[in-house]
Amino acid sequence: MTMQHVFPTYQRFPFAITDGQGVHLTDNHGKTYLDFTAGIGVCNFGYHQPQIQAAVTQQLTHIWHTSNLYENELQDAVAGLLANGEERLVYFANSGTEANEAALKLARKYTGKTGILAFQHSFHGRTYGAMSMTGNPHIQAGYAPLVPGITFATYNDDAALDKITPELAAVILEVVQGEGGVFAGQTAWLQAVNAKCQATGIDEVQTGIGRTGYRMAYEGYGLDPDIYTVAKGLANGLPVGAMVGRRQLATAFGPGSHGSTFAGNAVAMAAAKRVLTQLTPALLTTVRAHAKLVWQSLATQVEPIPVVKQITGKGLMIGIHLDEQIPVNQVITRLQVEGLLTLSAGDNTLRLLPPIVMQPADLLAGIALIAKVLTTLTTEVTTNE
Ligand code: PLP
Repeated sequence: MTMQHVFPTYQRFPFAITDGQGVHLTDNHGKTYLDFTAGIGVCNFGYHQPQIQAAVTQQLTHIWHTSNLYENELQDAVAGLLANGEERLVYFANSGTEANEAALKLARKYTGKTGILAFQHSFHGRTYGAMSMTGNPHIQAGYAPLVPGITFATYNDDAALDKITPELAAVILEVVQGEGGVFAGQTAWLQAVNAKCQATGIDEVQTGIGRTGYRMAYEGYGLDPDIYTVAKGLANGLPVGAMVGRRQLATAFGPGSHGSTFAGNAVAMAAAKRVLTQLTPALLTTVRAHAKLVWQSLATQVEPIPVVKQITGKGLMIGIHLDEQIPVNQVITRLQVEGLLTLSAGDNTLRLLPPIVMQPADLLAGIALIAKVLTTLTTEVTTNE
């Protein structure tokens, strides 16, 4: 199958995913895989999860869409779950990039300032504002002029603190830089940035919804953002995004200030409500315990392999940085043959984002396959030298 009618904006592997059950996926040739991708951090509860499935199916028999011209109890329930007892309000969007657009607009409108400080190797999305805040020249290439007023600093670098001045509308960062190579922020540095900012915006699009073992990754670092954004895992596969901000920001986001036709769609909201209800402290404790087992296994089985430069990340968001002799796509393809789906990130990094509900036996089986493939490839490279 070669796709004929779609712009070639994605480099695709030559098979299609046609079904999923639990933490396994099936392709169009009937081959099954253990899934270490979760649809790039989206299907954190796996596939055909009975309660989410039931919530969506039930909503489909009622209303699919209403405009945002009417009150909406379901949206308010999801917003309440996101606020989690804090004095925060939610603006719904349809994706991560849209949530970040909303954050950018709100930060500028509320403060009356234009400056935004973002970080090198960040990723915030592909629309103009989010792309302009993305510290990756490849993603911005060909699209100038970008949104003005955005400057960049080095992530995890104390010199960045000097760039946080009162002239800024906001600072935006990921607690773990995902697309940029799965680099976790250092706790002391993140806390120093948070303390110095007048407005901190945390992009939890990839790190949120239990990915790092916390509801939102910032909670695990003791941070307190003024605004945070979430998407990907929020509805376990239905398109939704959300910007969550302090209640007092509402003065700048009144009627007519922002909006979107599909934002807060009823079917997506039904899924999100179920996802957030299931994201309990008990589940998060389990995710952290499982992640600990995974990191122990990575340390003993994967880290010593000569082609592995370092392993970075947090919780179930993992980057295995490979020597340039072993192109990451070659590893991904070999793992596909072995029945394991994985991702890449940054600079030749194998990225793992398993569903957060994956049990230890499957997690450890996947790590064992990675160790096996990397060991084989190391031997091949050494033999060819
Ligand atoms: N922000 C982060 C941290 C992301 O990882 C992504 C997507 O990978 C986005 C924003 C953009 O999200 P979306 O693709 O839903 O627009």
